[in-house]
Amino acid sequence: MADIDNRTKIEAEFRNSLMPVFRSAQKSAASGSDLNYTDLAVDIAGAAEESIRKAHVAIFLLLMSQEWVDFSGMQLMADQMAASYSSNAAAAIGKTVADNIRNDLASGTLPDVVFDVNRADRIAQTEVTRAVTSGGKQAKSILASTGKKLIARWRVQEVSPGKPDDRVDDICRPLNRLLEPEWRQIYNGMPPRHVNCRCYVDYIPSSELEQVK
Ligand SMILES: [Zn+2]
Repeated sequence: MADIDNRTKIEAEFRNSLMPVFRSAQKSAASGSDLNYTDLAVDIAGAAEESIRKAHVAIFLLLMSQEWVDFSGMQLMADQMAASYSSNAAAAIGKTVADNIRNDLASGTLPDVVFDVNRADRIAQTEVTRAVTSGGKQAKSILASTGKKLIARWRVQEVSPGKPDDRVDDICRPLNRLLEPEWRQIYNGMPPRHVNCRCYVDYIPSSELEQVK
């Protein structure tokens, strides 16, 4: 199984929806007025929700359709799973990002640095990765309940088979293509392993495991 095919597009949409929220908060911060961090968290959550919902749906459908083509309720199930994930996850993202912004401003970082587009990019990349992991895990467990056993394998973004692209972090590089029991000896978690992590988990039917070893 590959990664979701629209990752870059979803990341860009995510960043583009965050930037107006950042610009408006930056303006308030630069003018010296106190930011309302509760409102900021809500606005960030609102900007995040649609993108992480899309990422969640994309991976869920990718995995389910690969294994279970005739399942008629699949789209509905994907939408329901994604909706419950994205509302909670978006609220958590809003709160964390607003807290980080508050800390950065309090420690004297200038507003144009705090609200830089790179921050929006980091959030978009990391949180799309987290949404993809969540959607994949849910699909895997539903498939497992029907007797389709899938084996997880860590994947970094590659330029060609086995060759990580330039942006892959050194801490993720050694995990590439390791099966779950192997990667967990190095890192007992799932993507994202770090801020800006674009790794994902590949799910292989246990019947096909011999071919990838
Ligand atoms: Zn990574």
